[in-house]
Amino acid sequence: MSLPPKPWPTGRCEQLEPLVARVLAPNASPFTYTGTQTYLVGGREGLAVIDPGPAEAVHLAALEAAIGGAPVLAIMCTHTHRDHSPAAAPLAERTGAPVVGCAPLVLESVDGFPRADAPFDSDYAPDRVLADGEQVSGPGWTLTALATPGHTSNHLCFALEESGAVLTGDHVMGWSTSVVAPPDGDMADYMASLETLYAREDRMYYPAHGPAVERPRQLVRGMIGHRRQRERQIVKLLGRDPGAVEALVPQMYRGVDERLWPAAAQSVLAHLVDLERRGLVTRSGDVWMIAG
Ligand SMILES: [Zn+2]
Repeated sequence: MSLPPKPWPTGRCEQLEPLVARVLAPNASPFTYTGTQTYLVGGREGLAVIDPGPAEAVHLAALEAAIGGAPVLAIMCTHTHRDHSPAAAPLAERTGAPVVGCAPLVLESVDGFPRADAPFDSDYAPDRVLADGEQVSGPGWTLTALATPGHTSNHLCFALEESGAVLTGDHVMGWSTSVVAPPDGDMADYMASLETLYAREDRMYYPAHGPAVERPRQLVRGMIGHRRQRERQIVKLLGRDPGAVEALVPQMYRGVDERLWPAAAQSVLAHLVDLERRGLVTRSGDVWMIAG
């Protein structure tokens, strides 16, 4: 995945459309592209901060400068990966704003394994959790929560009713497909959440990483096709030879940056778990094979 040429607009407030501005955090990596993008929705009379990002002093200072004394009415998180929500608490402390949005992750274990792991922000403590369709509004803007589980079980997108834009978090991004890592990540949920967006008529997506998406339905249709193609590829490879995830990944992700293979392995596992639930594949230990 090639990155755009530097300099990147880290720490600057970029106005994208009348109600939407963006501030890039200094946390670029193979998983975050140029970094997490925090969005400010609204204006001088009151705004919402979406995905405040990592709790790094320079990013918090950049957000405060971008906010510029405007009342912060809500701090909203799409999900609780550590590159999205840790700045919520310090920003709430500085602005007095409530933390509103996704649920905290349920930490019960699944099959003896913890459901949440290191990438999750276990300190996230929202003042109000939004269910699908619930809204937060301010002067001239309304954000509607869209339940979009899959990348994580608690993922929400936020639709800006006044402009047809959707803040898509990590659910749909232009630069990369989303990592779906079991046990919290769920491929069947992810596919259903892609269908949720595909059924809408949105004008523009602003993802938490990477550039704005100007043809959102076309991208979502492509992603649905891409996942179905990955699934067919897995079934075809297992039809030839039963194998472990580690054997499938090099065959499926040839030409992709090897630093991303562990994440790709998570998505392959998510496909296998989904195929197993549907009775199409089965496993013996770590080795997966066609059922029947
Ligand atoms: Zn994430």
